[in-house]
Amino acid sequence: MEVNLISDTVTRPTAGMLAHMMETPVGDDVFKEDPSINALEEQVASLFGKEAALFFPSGTMANQTAIKLHTQPGEQLICDHYAHIFNYEGGGVSFNSGVSCALIEGERGRITAEQIKQRINPSDFYHSPKTALVALENTTNKGGGACYDPEEIKRIAALCKEENLPLHLDGARLWNAMTATKTSPAFYGEMFDTISVCFSKGLGAPVGSALLGTKEQIDRALRIRKMLGGGMRQAGYLAAAASYGITHHWPRMEEDHQKAKALGEAVKAVDGVRYLAPVDTNIVIFEFTSEAREKQFMEHMQKCKIQLISMGSGKLRFVTHLDYSNDQHAYVLQCIKQFN
Ligand SMILES: *Cc1c(COP(=O)(O)O)cnc(C)c1O
Repeated sequence: MEVNLISDTVTRPTAGMLAHMMETPVGDDVFKEDPSINALEEQVASLFGKEAALFFPSGTMANQTAIKLHTQPGEQLICDHYAHIFNYEGGGVSFNSGVSCALIEGERGRITAEQIKQRINPSDFYHSPKTALVALENTTNKGGGACYDPEEIKRIAALCKEENLPLHLDGARLWNAMTATKTSPAFYGEMFDTISVCFSKGLGAPVGSALLGTKEQIDRALRIRKMLGGGMRQAGYLAAAASYGITHHWPRMEEDHQKAKALGEAVKAVDGVRYLAPVDTNIVIFEFTSEAREKQFMEHMQKCKIQLISMGSGKLRFVTHLDYSNDQHAYVLQCIKQFN
């Protein structure tokens, strides 16, 4: 048996998803004439209670567009030092928007209203970059799938309102956060000015993300997406996959979280594991006491044909997903137990 647990982006479209893609009507989305894309954008906007949504080829492009929407060159955004927009978008923040990041050392990628407050540069102090945006991530990627407490989000949103700062959510795995914390899309729609969500992770679509905001923001986002080269033609096939993922795969997401919890339990019992991050969603991060022990474990996993990822500085990671079957799960648990 072969098992790939390096990321939840490794999934392939299910038979049902493929069938739905095959029968979906398409048109030229650059002319806004793709009925399936239009339908998806309406579906997602209405789900989150936002005026409008725009389909993107990647989460990176959706985030980069949001940053461009909210900022001017020379300004600064506030985010956690683990943030995807800072670490994993190729330096796009500075390249695309000419913006710098004020980094906060949060807890597993999560920051608080109190911490944000301390990083806002006084608006009359013209020597410092103007603080123009606050960006949160939920769940946190580098933070191991941690979810924000909805109460903290409320405090942050209130602070941003008071300070007249837009608030963006990198919600690549917001589907997982909503599942784990039993929060509704409408809650996030109310709290954040713009939200990006990925369809190509837990929902199992092959490609795609969306950016949500007001009609005015999304009209401007359309022009920015064009400049970034993100206009696509008969991409309705992808939108159909995304829509199918929301309807049919989101409701089963708790299963991924349960499997991740079980993997965490199994890993915790392994001799030589010194740290297991809390398993809030579908990501399991752990560390061994020594490099030698970690190497032995990786070799054992390789022999079992189980793929996981090393995140550097001694951190190993499993990510559960739609294509990780019950049989595979039983097999992986057994292989972990056998390691000693
Ligand atoms: C995956 C991810 C993205 C977007 O990634 P793409 O590969 O560009 O779709 C953005 N933010 C976070 C937190 C992610 O995990």
